[in-house]
Amino acid sequence: MNRDASLARSAIPSVSRVLEFPAVQQLMDVYGRNLVKQAVRSAQAELREVMKGDAQAAAAALREEAVIERVEQTLKRMNQPSMQRVFNLTGTILHTNLGRACLPQSAVSAMAAASGSCNVEYDLAAGQRGDRDAHLESWLTSLTGAEAATVVNNNAAAVMLVLNTLALGRQVPVSRGELVEIGGSFRMPDIITRAGCHMVEVGTTNRTHASDYEHAIGPQTALLLKVHRSNFEMEGFVSSVPESELAGLARNHDLPLAVDLGSGTLVDLERYGLPHEPTPGEIIAKGADLVTFSGDKLLGGPQAGIIVGRKALIEQLKLNPMKRALRLDKTTIAGLEAVLRLYADPDRLPEHLPTLKFLIRKEGDIRDLAERVKPALEAVLEASASVDVVPCRSQVGSGSFPTQTLPSTALAIRPHPGESGTDKALQRIALALRRLPLPVIGRIRDGVLYLDLRCLEDEAAFQDQLHELEIPGGGPP
Ligand SMILES: *Cc1c(COP(=O)(O)O)cnc(C)c1O
Repeated sequence: MNRDASLARSAIPSVSRVLEFPAVQQLMDVYGRNLVKQAVRSAQAELREVMKGDAQAAAAALREEAVIERVEQTLKRMNQPSMQRVFNLTGTILHTNLGRACLPQSAVSAMAAASGSCNVEYDLAAGQRGDRDAHLESWLTSLTGAEAATVVNNNAAAVMLVLNTLALGRQVPVSRGELVEIGGSFRMPDIITRAGCHMVEVGTTNRTHASDYEHAIGPQTALLLKVHRSNFEMEGFVSSVPESELAGLARNHDLPLAVDLGSGTLVDLERYGLPHEPTPGEIIAKGADLVTFSGDKLLGGPQAGIIVGRKALIEQLKLNPMKRALRLDKTTIAGLEAVLRLYADPDRLPEHLPTLKFLIRKEGDIRDLAERVKPALEAVLEASASVDVVPCRSQVGSGSFPTQTLPSTALAIRPHPGESGTDKALQRIALALRRLPLPVIGRIRDGVLYLDLRCLEDEAAFQDQLHELEIPGGGPP
């Protein structure tokens, strides 16, 4: 067998021969020489595998057209962008793995406009070097009532910068009830330590009193830190020190109070019928000296960490060399500016800001949408699963309203009972949906795949691609 196999292998055309095929020459015009060469090498490796199999298949695979087809498929695969638009039908509006906030159109246009040369750090009136923060600072101060503002890459960076600037080598008292883990790798104790500060835990898990901070404050104390319990709530025998009281305490000791708010929206969400979520403006009004929050959580903008507060402190932050390492990209600044501009007109905010639009989308509208798209999905899944319109609950995600959910509607996909096991069948359907040109991501629970339609905007694009659905493994008989 070995002699035959090596004979067969020698029948595989060499790279230089394949590159001379006229069809491959044409591929070079499209993809470039390097990529085509890589694809030919990878096709050869595949052919060597095929040669190990039966002779007939090997002979077919060696035909010129078959080799060209193989090279072209490889090139298509290689050229597929890694970052792709997807349909987030998970039921989590701000899904960190799916890019959190969906940007408004005005932000996308502003980002495109800033993608070439732009005045990111250039004062057009004076014709000289300007300040990167200038594009955002006046919006942020007018929307929060703070004296000054600066912006970095994300809220984790904002917290790092505050601690490293104001408390390097010194003590930071923080309540044991606020030593949170946000997910990913943001754990408050680690951030405090890595920022070069000494954490001093005060109070207990469930109760922390002003006197606990009072006892902890000493000559080495740099600032007081309060952290919003973004992703959990405590009930029962609990107490914590409100911002206003903590601010008074900090003032008495001549210390700044920094509050890490996490999700920071710039309007009172109650005006849209949603539960109250503290705003940076409220926390500033209660006496905090610095407030940090994210750009891509409830705010609905691009990934950024925003710091607002007292001018003298913000100036210190800007002088920290770390600020340079954490600075925002020009397109992010442009996108964030466009989002902040929308907040100037809260009446029309829901029309323009997708995050808010999704949050307040009416249950009835989502149900109507589900009824409209159901037949198309049902038609392509007919052989493998049933599709039903069912009520469900969406969550906000990314540490906002952790215990509250919103009534919504989902398409529930249940595989027909089959010999291969319904769990495997369900996984195959979920995979097929993820393999669509615009991947569809749902949520599996208790043997059912739910597509929560709260965040589905482009109904036509969703439906138009469904005919391409191919269930791997042929689906149940
Ligand atoms: C989300 C959150 C962070 C981290 O913010 P990123 O923008 O994800 O870096 C920090 N602190 C709190 C309280 C949060 O909720």
